Order: sequence, then C-alpha cells, then structure tokens
Amino acid sequence: MGWVTNFGQGNKDQKDLLGGKGANLAEMTNLGLPVPPGFTISTEACRAYLGAGGTPDGLREEVSEHLEVLERTMGRRLGDADDPLLVSVRSGAKFSMPGMMETVLNIGLNDESVHGLAARSGNPRFAQDSYRRLVQMFGATVLHVDAQHFSRALDEAKTARGTESDLDLDADDLAALATRFKEIVREHTGADFPQDPREQLELAIRAVFDSWNTDRARLYRRQERIPEDLGTAVNVQAMVFGNFGMHSGSGVAFTRDPASGNQGVYGDYLQNAQGEDVVAGIRNTVSLADFAELDRRSHDELLEIMATLERHYRDMCDIEFTVEDGKLWMLQTRVGKRTPEAAFRIARHMRDEGMIDADEQLHRVTGDQLASLMFPRFDDSGERTLVAVGMNASPGAAVGRVVFDSATAVEWAGRGEPVILLRKETNPDDLSGMVVAQGILTSRGGKTSHAAVVARGMGRTCVCGAESLDVDAEAREARVRDGGVIREGDTLSIDGATGEVFLGEVAVTPSHVVRHFEGEEVDEDVVAAVSEVMAHADSRRRLGVRANADTAEDAARARRFGAEGIGLCRTEHMFLGDRRSLVEDLIVAEDDESRQAALDALLPHQREDFVGILEAMDGLPVTIRLIDPPLHEFLPDYTDLSVKVALAEARGEASERDERLLAHVRRLHEQNPMLGLRGVRLGIQVPGLFVMQARAILEAAADRIDAGGHPLPEIMVPLVASVRELDVVKREILKVADEVQQARGVEVDFKVGTMIELPRAAFLADRIARSAEFFSFGTNDLTQMAWGFSRDDVEAKFFSQYFEHGIFDVSPFESLDTLGVGGMVRMGTEKGRATKPDLKVGVCGEHGGDPASIHFFDSAGLDYVSCSPFRVPVARLEAGRAALDRD
Ligand code: PEP
Ligand code: MG
Repeated sequence: MGWVTNFGQGNKDQKDLLGGKGANLAEMTNLGLPVPPGFTISTEACRAYLGAGGTPDGLREEVSEHLEVLERTMGRRLGDADDPLLVSVRSGAKFSMPGMMETVLNIGLNDESVHGLAARSGNPRFAQDSYRRLVQMFGATVLHVDAQHFSRALDEAKTARGTESDLDLDADDLAALATRFKEIVREHTGADFPQDPREQLELAIRAVFDSWNTDRARLYRRQERIPEDLGTAVNVQAMVFGNFGMHSGSGVAFTRDPASGNQGVYGDYLQNAQGEDVVAGIRNTVSLADFAELDRRSHDELLEIMATLERHYRDMCDIEFTVEDGKLWMLQTRVGKRTPEAAFRIARHMRDEGMIDADEQLHRVTGDQLASLMFPRFDDSGERTLVAVGMNASPGAAVGRVVFDSATAVEWAGRGEPVILLRKETNPDDLSGMVVAQGILTSRGGKTSHAAVVARGMGRTCVCGAESLDVDAEAREARVRDGGVIREGDTLSIDGATGEVFLGEVAVTPSHVVRHFEGEEVDEDVVAAVSEVMAHADSRRRLGVRANADTAEDAARARRFGAEGIGLCRTEHMFLGDRRSLVEDLIVAEDDESRQAALDALLPHQREDFVGILEAMDGLPVTIRLIDPPLHEFLPDYTDLSVKVALAEARGEASERDERLLAHVRRLHEQNPMLGLRGVRLGIQVPGLFVMQARAILEAAADRIDAGGHPLPEIMVPLVASVRELDVVKREILKVADEVQQARGVEVDFKVGTMIELPRAAFLADRIARSAEFFSFGTNDLTQMAWGFSRDDVEAKFFSQYFEHGIFDVSPFESLDTLGVGGMVRMGTEKGRATKPDLKVGVCGEHGGDPASIHFFDSAGLDYVSCSPFRVPVARLEAGRAALDRD
C-alpha cells in the first residue's frame, strides 16, 4: 500500500487511512455522484512526515504519478500557462475538526497562468479573483503572513471603489489586489510568492500536515478527546469554481435540521463565492428555498443527491457543494454533527421511517448527549427583557457577562466569572474563548457558520446571526438596533433552543428530560425519543446501575432515575455539622468509658440516617461504606486552633478542652493524610468506631424490618490492602450483628465486603475474596495509588503539560486509564472470582458515570457501576450501548 489513493479506489469505511473527507469523497465517487476527480494522501503519510520531520520517501513520486493521472483525466496540466489545471489542497482527519486545519484553493495560478485562465474561461474577473484568493490563502496558511494584512488590503480596495462588497470589484481591481497581496508576501517573508505550480502544491501539502500541530488544533482535540497521534489526510482535487459569476456559487446543506432534528433539508447558499466565504459569514447567505429561485435545476439535483446520500448512509448528512456556471458539484459529505436534541429526535424519526432498527437507534445517541439534555432551561414564566433574536444554533440556557474577545473570555473565566462571548463572527482563533464561555453569541453567520458548527460539536450553547446587534469589539460594546448598548461586563442570558437573547439574568428551570425522569408527564418529542431509547437500553444492558448517594433524598431521586440500589453511601458527612462536637468528644476521650459515651451519642444519629436511606431503597441493595477520611478532617484547623489557644492563654483565659483538643489535633496531624490514618486503618486504630457504625446500620435494618420493609444493607470496608485487616474488622462486625439480631429478634439479610482501591488489594484479590462477600472498585484511589498522583493536587498543578505533550488525551481521574488502572480492575475481578466464582463486583469511583469507562467495565465483566444520581440515566444508556458493542 502506498501513500496516495485515487478517489475511485477508497470507500467510506477507510476513515483511519483516508480521513473523513477522503473516505467520503471516495464513497461519493463510487456512487456515481458529480465529484471533481482527485486523490488522497493518507494519514499514514502525515504521521511519517511529522515523525521524521520531513517528506517521507516515495511520497513526492507518488504525488507526481497521481497528478499525471489527474491531468490526463482533466485534459489540462497543473498551472499550464495557456489552460491551467487548478487544484485544491484540503485537510481531512479521521474526526472532523471544523476550521482547525488548513485548506488552500486555486493552486496552479501564477503571473502567466492567470491570463491563460482568463482567456480560456472568457472571464477575466473570475481569473483575477481566483489569483488574489490563492495569494491570500497561501500567504496566510502556508507562508504564515498575518491574515489581517490581506483583509485590510481587501477593505482598502473596496473603500477605494466606494463599495462594501467584493462583488463590486472588477478584473482590474482584483489584478491590482493580487499584485498588492504579492507585495505583502514579499514584505513579510522576504521572498516572492512562489510561481512554480509544483512548488505551490508541495508547500501546501506540507502546510496541511503541519497544521495538525497548531495550538488551536491541539486545544480542539483535547476538548473533543481526539487522540493526538492520528494525523490528517490531505485531499488534492481538481478545482471547480463557485466564483465564476452569478450562475455560480457555493453552499452547505444538511439533510435534516442539525439543531432541532426536524425533518426537511436545511442549508445556506452564496452566489459567486468559494466555499470558505459561506462558512466565514463574509456575506449573508440565502436559504435553499431561495437557491431554488436562483437555479432550479441545480437545486433539484442537489435535493435528489441529498436524498440518495441519506438513504445510503442511513443518517443525517451534511454536504458542501459548488455550482460552476449552472453545473452542480459535490465537494464533501459526512454524517453531520448535531445537537443532543437532534440526535435523539433524528434517531427516533429514522427508526419510524424504517431506516434503522432499535439497536441502531440506541447506537446513534450517547450518554454525553443525554447528560446535556438534562441541563436546566430558561424559565419562560418570569419577567424577561428580549434584546435580540438570532438563530438557535446550539441549545442550552447560558447566562454570563459579556466579553468581546477570547483573551478576555479566558481571563475572566479563569477567575470564575461565567462569560458570554459576543463576536461579529468567530474564527478558529476564537477557540480558547469558546471553550471557556458559557455561551457564544454572534451577530453574523448562519447555522453552518464557524461559531455554530464548533459550538454544536462542543455541546456549548450558541445563538448566531443576531443581526440587530452591531458589534464593535474595539469599543467593547454592541449597539442594539432599536436603541440601547450592551457593554463589556453586562449580563446576558442566551437561549440556544429559541435563539432569544435577554438582558440580565433569566431564571432557569429543570429540563424536560429531567422532569420526565422525575416521573412527570411531559408532552415533548425529545422526551418521547429519550424514553424510547432508555427502554431499549434497559432491555439490552447486562451491567447493573446503582447510585452513589448519602442521603435519603438523593437515594429517592436516584431510584426515580432508575438506580437499582446504592453502590456507595459515604458516611463521612454524618460526622459533620452539629455532630462535629460529638466527634471532638470521641477524639479527646482519654479512657474507654468517655470514648464509649461519645460513640453512644453518635449512634442514634447514624441510625436515623440509615433508616431513611434503606427506606428509600427498600428491596434493593444498599452499600454503606464505613468511615474513610482521616479524622483530622472533622477537627478544627491546626493553625486556627493554635492561634485561638495562644490568644486565650495570653489573656489568661485558657480553656482546658481547647488545649486537649489542640494536643490531639497535633497528634493526628499528618504530612500526607491521603496515605495515612484513614479507612480500615482508622477503624482498627480507634476502637469501637466501626462497631458503632455497623451497629447503627444493623439496628436501622431491624427498624425497617419492624416497619414491614425489606432492607438489604451491604457493609463495606474501605482502603483494605490485606485480608488480615478485613478479617479483624469483619469479626467485630459479625459479633455486633449477632448481638443486634438477638436483641431485636430479627434476621437481617446483610453482607460484608470491601473496596478494592489499593494496588496491593488488586494483586491479592484472591486472598481478600476469602473474607469479602463483594468487591467494589474505588477507582479514584486506585488511580491515585497506581500513578502516584495526589488526587487533590495534580490536575491543577501539571496536567496541562501532560495534555500538551499528548501524554494524556483525557485526565485519568475523569475517564479510566484502561491499560494501567483498568488492568488492575480486570485482574482483581478475575482473581476475586477465582476464589468465589459468584463474587459480586462493582465500581463506585467517579469513573462509574463516565461513558468510555462504562464500556470498559462492561467488557471486564463487572456486575454493576455506581455513580451520582444525575449520571444514573447516562450510565443506563451507556451500559445498553456497551452491550451492543459486545454482540
Ligand atoms: C474511590 O476511591 O474511588 C472511592 C469511591 O472512594 P472515595 O472517592 O470516597 O475515596
Ligand atoms: Mg476511596
């Protein structure tokens, strides 16, 4: 296999090798659609180029061979002085990265061939326009001249003509502009714009390869969790010209509305323009209906092709097309990005239309999309001041203070200020601001503009094309057409579902989908779509889904959201608030009697908490973890208390209790408390503590049985490294269990198990399983201990460099490191089950609610995942999707 593939040789399943654009161009070519011919340089070539720091052996020759074939097909030679073939050079990675990487059009033009093109086409204006575009794009993207120099010169040319539109510039103006652009290139690079077409082509190919590693592309990949090492393919394609005249143009279209998911085609068309003009929002586009008025034949053919593509891909497609003098050409298609709402609705509609089955419907939506549908929406019953209406480009309810540039957005967001980024239009350099903003608002551009496409991809709220706003970024204000001014720092609320922009802060209400999960009747198409998918996911999934919940209210909500029990009830919050003084009593106790008195005082509080939780989860298992954090967390701060005692002593008012407390705080102070006296170690060190908790759990269960309930408590011991630690604690628990059952005359159905959250525990899981009736992987601590990363510090300290160097695509605290930590999970599960084949194994670290990690846990054979109540529906959905992957 070489480095280069002709369009006719590939297909849509070769995205790894040909990138998304190349694979789909090949597919469209094979479908017999009107695609200008060309070839794709593979991602492998890019990886070889980036790895070796230069063009790999054989690539130049292969490009020459394919170029010759293209020249023969077209009957023209690249850059020929009399009748030049022109080509475009476009990037195209496996995953679409809109606007992140480079494209150069009109390669092959130079001081001579521009005249050849003018003569052959009979259209000198078009030839000169194409040449100035080449110098402009090539100058900016290949030669790295600041693009502003070109746009300023273009503005000057328009001003000199007394016009605001590039369409009013004639052939002479454009020729003069090309000359001016070449001067700019010389001024800023010290060299002439390259006249040799072959050199232009080679430099452009290299520039596309290099653009894989620009800062903005890296940032985008991190945001979208796209691996760093994929590289981009490069597509070299015969040019067709949307700037040929008023019977020409360029457009983008979707086979369904990507914002709402509504059926019916959707698109924008711009007359006498090349593709980048449409997305950049330079002039205002027209709708497909208006395109039909301009060019009925091309419009009808486009709609027919769109229907063909949708049937072929069995999914919503987005399309880039060009009309050259009344002839339609397809430049790109792909399965289109869509909002979460559109994803659920389109999948449902396509199932209804018989295009896909229920499994495929489930496959088409993701847990992340469901999570964003669970965000709150604006409350439409309250007082609201509407200032503008734009297009509903990406849904959500965003409130923040207005900023007019990305640097300010980053700065303000960095200090915790929610911001709305308000721009005339965005470009790829705005990415850093878009990432940190709550929402993005633009005054120009449609649903296919850069702002809209990128915001949808990131799941960020976006309203675009709010034309009644006159944005003046330099003055840091936007004038509202009907009067009034929005200044930097003013608060705006933007509704990405309706396109409305409100002054001030608008209150939010729960999402329709959350109301549905809460049990309300909600008559919304998206709710019906979600509920249909959830039912199928539940019927397909093998993994159980439990919740991490510490209160009766959370437990009740989790149950409404579909949790099948509690996987982790942390008991530490039960030692806070007004119970702190009881904990202090426990610690300052110096004899058995006063320690027992302190424990006895804590017992009823604990019991009460457990009764509520067991009631909310009646009939379902409830895993209650004995206290884990170091005790000093429940005591006053060492420094504060030292100061307090010192001041009191100076005043001669020393309190004996404070002094004793200080002595104990000093005793308990640790350099590294996360590796210190916590978990099972604490339970062994402080006699009676775990016993009191176990008693509270069992007495609560007895109370529930007396009340006619069916409690299923599971007592879980944290931070166990050795089976002997577990044995010591378990003996005490079983003893207290006997006492409680005898005293109360009931039999409690309970289990004693352990967390596996230390590497040693995973290694020795076969031994630990002798004593444990269940395992639950604490992947937060397991990640911390496996990497030696302090979970409280490292993310803020140095993870950004790890992302920059491509060591991480995503934080291992957020999404499971499946190789390392996941390896321990697999091993621990296998070893545990070697001892006890029916050992129940779950996970309760943060990863239990992370989609990618859920797929891993399914493959590792775990019985359930446990996550926060709001993630429960997400986990149910992803567990269903994971089951599809395994079939
Ligand atoms: C864990 O370590 O993964 C866990 C669930 O426990 P915690 O986060 O409370 O340490
Ligand atoms: Mg832990």
